[in-house]
Amino acid sequence: MNFYILTLFPEMVMQGLHTSILGRASEAGVLHIETVNIRDYSENKHHNVDDYPYGGGAGMLMQAQPVYNAWKSVAERIGRKPRCIYMTPQGKTFAQQDAKELALEEDLILLCGHYEGIDERVLEEIVTDYMSIGDYVLTGGELPAMVMVDAISRMIPGVLGNGDSKAAESFEGGLLEHPQYSRPEEWKGKTVPGVLLSGHHKNIELWRRQQSILRTWERRPDLLEQANLTSSEQEWLQKQKQQRQDS
Ligand code: SAM
Repeated sequence: MNFYILTLFPEMVMQGLHTSILGRASEAGVLHIETVNIRDYSENKHHNVDDYPYGGGAGMLMQAQPVYNAWKSVAERIGRKPRCIYMTPQGKTFAQQDAKELALEEDLILLCGHYEGIDERVLEEIVTDYMSIGDYVLTGGELPAMVMVDAISRMIPGVLGNGDSKAAESFEGGLLEHPQYSRPEEWKGKTVPGVLLSGHHKNIELWRRQQSILRTWERRPDLLEQANLTSSEQEWLQKQKQQRQDS
């Protein structure tokens, strides 16, 4: 999969996305992550990319022309109009399901704004999706783009090593992941739950599933509505809730 990140700060993005798992996936050719420096496409002799907003108001706005030309350089190379996501606090909140869906694309352009944002006219021209990483305002779209590239990349076959499994991770099947433990068996007087040392795979699976349900109820009860709990699991959860109330 090819990511093209349109930004004024390519070094910030590249450093973050070329380490560890994503760095190895890029080296192996599973991913291609490229930045396009919007400033390189300024037609202004001082390479300016921003100007005052019409109508007044605080801050500067990124101008349409350099953003459009940066986008066009990618679109012409690919030979078509690819999906282009503008990082914006005004967009749909990015979630795991979006990461899965976007991982099916061959090419993806991520457009990072800065200052007060980008001239609306170029957004109308090139943007296909508006996405936010949460209800807060950041100084630029670079961190959101990095968050999205990371989450999307994990969904691409071959990016995670063999030992990494997405199947039981948080948000799969509407549940959070169960607690996990590694060596030593005892640390600061806390022991690893006995079932995990038993070697009994069926019991371990049952314990993990129940812990996932419990943790989701405790921390993100809103997710449980979409989790497909069996009737016996629902009964079990009711009992847990009752026990908590009684104690
Ligand atoms: N004036 C804009 C508004 O009120 O909607 C905010 C501009 S923000 C200071 C500058 C840039 O940061 C935006 O163009 C966008 O690319 C990025 N950004 C800020 N917060 C974001 C968020 N929560 N999700 C995605 N991108 C964000």
